[in-house]
Amino acid sequence: MDTIIHYIVQMMEEAQLYYIESIKEGSKLKYEGMTENEALGSVLSHEAVHCTDINEIDADLKYESKHGRHPRPNREDKTKEIEDKIKEELKRLCGM
Ligand SMILES: [Zn+2]
Repeated sequence: MDTIIHYIVQMMEEAQLYYIESIKEGSKLKYEGMTENEALGSVLSHEAVHCTDINEIDADLKYESKHGRHPRPNREDKTKEIEDKIKEELKRLCGM
């Protein structure tokens, strides 16, 4: 099966493996110490910016139209900013 849905499911499985590994104590990765749901919330807040922020999508498309399939160099700035805010909010709410 080589459909876009298959591709998305595969990406989600890989992302899930990443954050499941990174929440483990001693992983020294960005989600260490978070619960699975907190890590998932953080990941989704990051990906939601890529998928829904019209200014980010516009900038990505304009950059890629000029530079082939290379990602825009600063495309992770706003996603990281939002994800960091969500992580701080989760720490405050969940006492992490
Ligand atoms: Zn990203």
